[in-house]
Amino acid sequence: MPSPKKRLRTKTFIGISSGSACVSSLKFFVMEISKNEKFPDDLEAAIRELKRERNAILLAHYYQESEIQDLADVVGDSLALARAAQQVDKDVIAFCGVHFMAETAKILNPDRTVVLPDLDAGCSLADGCPADEFRAFIARHPGAKVVSYINCSAEVKAMSDLICTSSNAVKMVEHFKDDPVIFAPDRHLARHVAKQANRPDLIVWEGACEVHELFSAKALAQMKVRHPDAEVLAHPECEQAVLDQADFIGSTTGIIQHAIKTSAKTLIIATEDGVFHSIRRKVPEKTLIQAPGQDESCSCNRCPYMRLNTPEKLYLALRDLKPEIRVPEATRVRALQPIELMLKLS
Ligand code: SF4
Repeated sequence: MPSPKKRLRTKTFIGISSGSACVSSLKFFVMEISKNEKFPDDLEAAIRELKRERNAILLAHYYQESEIQDLADVVGDSLALARAAQQVDKDVIAFCGVHFMAETAKILNPDRTVVLPDLDAGCSLADGCPADEFRAFIARHPGAKVVSYINCSAEVKAMSDLICTSSNAVKMVEHFKDDPVIFAPDRHLARHVAKQANRPDLIVWEGACEVHELFSAKALAQMKVRHPDAEVLAHPECEQAVLDQADFIGSTTGIIQHAIKTSAKTLIIATEDGVFHSIRRKVPEKTLIQAPGQDESCSCNRCPYMRLNTPEKLYLALRDLKPEIRVPEATRVRALQPIELMLKLS
């Protein structure tokens, strides 16, 4: 038997209370693992060995389970992972994040094999901006530059002039200071950027992240009363009523860095609680509280798509080199331009 430290979870799906009204609008897909599949006792060692055999790099988003973060070569937010993907010198990229992130890695690395442990790890925000509807939206605003948040499909990226992340969105919009700008697909980030960049004229695609939208401003106000010394840190994908109560608004990396350096001992955090792992590594003495959701009986502020990746699926992805991400070449070439421009300007 492996030591408890070495033994990873063997469950194949993170359960979320299905009776909750607030998760009923989320789409759930579960990539089943065959019951006949056998896993090594020491799954962590087996994954590390497969990484060596395949000459693979493992990139993981902060919203992944801590077991996956601990196995990763690079843990980061969308911008850091795009930068890491740009510098890869391995044959295989195992991407533990969601589909649009793995697609971005493939766009930057057409000759490398990119695998995503669960192909159903999508994103409600990206799914809420279908390419054909977005094309028609752009056509209604001739002459506007298109700045798209990285949380969108390769096809939407291919229609964009510039990609941004929550770390650099203000700077990317300021790049087109003399032009009308379409900002897609997150309306909450757009509103935040419009304020910061003094661009009330932004033309906004009205999408939203179903996870960040579920934080409750009312319950947060009550929580602040119970923790009067706590600082509130929020991601700009949250609703305005939540951001209005925040002491700090920033990207995933910004939140982690602020949590580490602030003198506050108790932090209420309005983003996915996968970030807690990186914060606790640096400041284990701090008390971290996830901001409350609209239904306190469920884990509705955990991204169900991110959590579809598991160590077992990662093992299979490295062993079988699938599911593999593919992007049609014409789309890839067009989508590469706004991504590279973002990386150059960041
Ligand atoms: S947290 Fe929201 S924006 Fe991020 S991957 Fe999940 S659904 Fe998409």
